[in-house]
Amino acid sequence: MLKHTELEPRFVKGVPRELEPGVLYVSMEYATVVHGCCCGCGLEVVTQLSPTHWELNFDGEAISLWPSVGNWNLPCRSHYVVRKNKVLEAEPWSQSRVRAAQHREQEARDRYYGQPRTPTPPAPAALPISKPAPARRRSYSFSWFTDLFK
Ligand SMILES: [Zn+2]
Repeated sequence: MLKHTELEPRFVKGVPRELEPGVLYVSMEYATVVHGCCCGCGLEVVTQLSPTHWELNFDGEAISLWPSVGNWNLPCRSHYVVRKNKVLEAEPWSQSRVRAAQHREQEARDRYYGQPRTPTPPAPAALPISKPAPARRRSYSFSWFTDLFK
């Protein structure tokens, strides 16, 4: 059960250290959205906006985030979709499903940025490039993340 079923978008430059529950902080400057986990645990959830991570939709009133937010790194492991400021609970994922999705995401990022972590032979040109898998993981290892809280 989610404690917060609605989020109030707040456009900010930097994200405050103390997150207000039920608020979705959007930093366009850092292409990042931060909120306290909607399950009620309140732990910080950071979603990075990028072509291979999350995309944000703002219709002038309400915000939608896609794909879903899977907090696999939090003890609660909550999983939900933010659509027009509403928080819709999604089904929990098994560890193997999370790992498989993370693997696909990494491949999608490698394709997009053209920098595979481990060298792989180039794919034949005729091979169709599949759509990047939805990102369902929080990211920690980016410099934008530390910049964000200065
Ligand atoms: Zn939680």
